[in-house]
Amino acid sequence: MNIAIICAMSEELHAVQQQIKMPLISQIDKAGNKYYKYSNEKNTVVAVVSGIGKVNAAITTQILLDNFDVDYVLNVGVAGSVSKVLSFGDVVVAKDLVQHDFDITTFGYKLGQIARLDTFSFQADQWLSDLLLDGLTSEKGLKNHNISYGRIVSGDQFINDAEKAEFLYDEFNAIACEMEGAAVAQVCYLNKKPFAVVRALSDMAGQASDDASHSFERLKIMAADCAALAIKQLLERI
Ligand code: SAH
Repeated sequence: MNIAIICAMSEELHAVQQQIKMPLISQIDKAGNKYYKYSNEKNTVVAVVSGIGKVNAAITTQILLDNFDVDYVLNVGVAGSVSKVLSFGDVVVAKDLVQHDFDITTFGYKLGQIARLDTFSFQADQWLSDLLLDGLTSEKGLKNHNISYGRIVSGDQFINDAEKAEFLYDEFNAIACEMEGAAVAQVCYLNKKPFAVVRALSDMAGQASDDASHSFERLKIMAADCAALAIKQLLERI
């Protein structure tokens, strides 16, 4: 099986690379990013840092699909919690994703609806998401963390505002916010390619008097390590 793994930041990719116990066979540069290809008798993994935000994530996803023979796309990394019950290091597997900052509501569209697209949210692949959830729940390193399945929202904004976090929860029924997942999802949707998104929480997005930028800086490596455990478990299962 050929798996593509997209991380927004080098810290996230570093955590993932520690879990890929496969020989590195090539490094290919495209549009300023390095695509690391690993392979063994069973599987191939191509892993890349896309850069932060939806445009970077979209470019990278399309490059992956056009240049590598990818069966499944995974977006792995950290996120902010917009749920009241999930906290630092808890892991969220996306059921579906929405771009919360896509706003053409003035034309009567729902907030988040992409213009002229036949879906509101992008559904993650059920088989891959179930496999990730199964791996995460049996991972000893996460025994003190919640593993959740629900909606993730993405936008080109770092959320550090309790009111905005609450709005994202109320408006979208989201449990986590980040800046890339729904862009990866849209590109996969348009290319009819199955995908999954797994994120561990680095901050509370400004809720509960948490300064998200401080939490993020302090906890991003811990959270990236938690998210990367999903890859460890997945590679043992495929
Ligand atoms: N200071 C950072 C910027 C990080 S942006 C730098 O330049 O390196 C935050 C990254 O983590 C994004 O990739 C996003 O997907 C994720 N993220 C974590 N917490 C988030 C939050 N509260 N809101 C939005 N994105 C968040």
